[in-house]
Amino acid sequence: MNEQLRINMRLAVTNIERVYKKVLRFLHLSPLSLAEKCRITFGAAVVFCLILALLVPYVWMGKLATMTLLNAGRAKSEMLLREHFQLNRVGSETTLASLDNLGGVMSAEDSEILWVRFRKGDEQQFSELTEGQKEMIESLKSDDSREDDICISKSKGLLLSDYVRVFRASDSCISCHNPQGIAEEFSRNELIGAAVIQRPAADVSKMILMNRVWVIVAWLIGGAGAIVAFYVITQRVILRPIRQLRGLANNVAEGNLDIRSAIKTGDEYENLSEAFNHMLDGLQASQKRLRQANTQLDDKIAELSARNIELFKANKIKSEFLANVSHEFRTPLNSILGFAEILREKSDVLKEEKGKRYADNIATSGKRLLNMINDLLDLAKTESGKMRLHIGDAEVVDICRAAVASFSTVTKNKRIKVRVRVAEDIPGLITDAGKVQQIVDNFLSNAVKFTLEEGRIEIGAEMLDEKTVRISVCDTGCGMAVEDKEKIFEKFTQVDGSMTRESTGSGLGLAISKELAGLIAGSIGLESELGKGSTFWLDIPVMLSSEEQTA
Ligand code: ADP
Repeated sequence: MNEQLRINMRLAVTNIERVYKKVLRFLHLSPLSLAEKCRITFGAAVVFCLILALLVPYVWMGKLATMTLLNAGRAKSEMLLREHFQLNRVGSETTLASLDNLGGVMSAEDSEILWVRFRKGDEQQFSELTEGQKEMIESLKSDDSREDDICISKSKGLLLSDYVRVFRASDSCISCHNPQGIAEEFSRNELIGAAVIQRPAADVSKMILMNRVWVIVAWLIGGAGAIVAFYVITQRVILRPIRQLRGLANNVAEGNLDIRSAIKTGDEYENLSEAFNHMLDGLQASQKRLRQANTQLDDKIAELSARNIELFKANKIKSEFLANVSHEFRTPLNSILGFAEILREKSDVLKEEKGKRYADNIATSGKRLLNMINDLLDLAKTESGKMRLHIGDAEVVDICRAAVASFSTVTKNKRIKVRVRVAEDIPGLITDAGKVQQIVDNFLSNAVKFTLEEGRIEIGAEMLDEKTVRISVCDTGCGMAVEDKEKIFEKFTQVDGSMTRESTGSGLGLAISKELAGLIAGSIGLESELGKGSTFWLDIPVMLSSEEQTA
């Protein structure tokens, strides 16, 4: 049963909603904005509440007018009764006519009094009564609890009030109306008769009308006031913060995340605005994080592309190197093979001077090949960290002189003047003398290689500070451009990387020297001017400490 009731209620609600929507659509009011909804619902609520509130005074005003007429009728009937009892007490014959003797109609002031008896034989008196009066009498006769009633009727275009009172025999009546009394005998509560008092009710009706008019006027004033009040409240309390929030949301949608809501209503709107601001803070923070992540990503991409370029360059350099190495390997190998072939075919040449020269050529080419292979092995060792240090005492002057001595043949052939200038304050070194020698040899080898005949080379050493010594090799060779200074320390790099270059070499010497300098806690630098010459130097600590070795 309950379930059925619930289903029916739900159906009813759905139907009401459907009708409501249809009405809205019919009135072109759908979809409604919040402002319109507030206005319609508040307006309807105001009208409904005012109707309920003024319905009671509206009805009560009518009742009040009727009660005035009823009280007037009662006063009149009381007066009639009082006069009747007064007459009895006086005992006058003529006055005993009282109500009976009035027989029918009695005019008094502005009203007309009709008296009807309920005795048998007096029924003809009823013929003078209207239908409404008769009905009222019958109704009062049948109801012991009521003795009077009033109604308003219209007769000949006039509004009249009909007051009816039925009289029942009371003790005061029976005091005279008994078998011994002077009047006709009544039994207790016997219905004696009815007084009908008719008087004009136009004034009362006008009063009722005026009352109702004033109630309606009050209703209209109250309604208008309430609607205005509700309108102002809706606009200020409900809609204004919503409009502010909507404006804020539009601003945010346009990308302005710095804006904040300043609603200070101290109610749920303020809470909402705070939540909104909090959300914006979060949004801004995450946007910042996103921007940072983006920047990091950009950096990573840039780094990756730089690495890519480096890789590409390295690959290119490696290809160049392979071509160079093959070229470098092929030259001495061809020479070795060529001279060995001649010696095999003409074994008697060996005894001659020519044969000795051929054998020398084979040995030189073999040495060159071996040097190149050693270079490659050195590089591989330093790169893999397998290069061992042999720390011991070393003298700078010895290293310089040894380097000069090893290139004396070439320098002599090219008529290059070589000078050694070592400062006297240089102390004995504690370092890996072999590595220092290898680096200085490489500097000198390059200087000799890139210095034209009759050029000058100076190999010198001096103290940079009390702990560091600088060994430099200065030449009057071809020098190099500023942009080339950066790249010559890269592996496999030569200023002239072309296959047709004049000088030999694999571009590994300086790269190896740099790695070796790092191993003995030193550094390499250079100064060079194109066409004028170059100075390469090595700065190393006088004493290689164990921390520096591990570093
Ligand atoms: P390579 O075995 O080719 O000489 P290096 O690494 O020793 O290899 O030298 C790299 C490049 O640096 C050389 O090919 C040369 O172009 C340039 N270079 C080195 N030393 C000198 C110098 N003293 N004068 C001019 N250029 C030099």
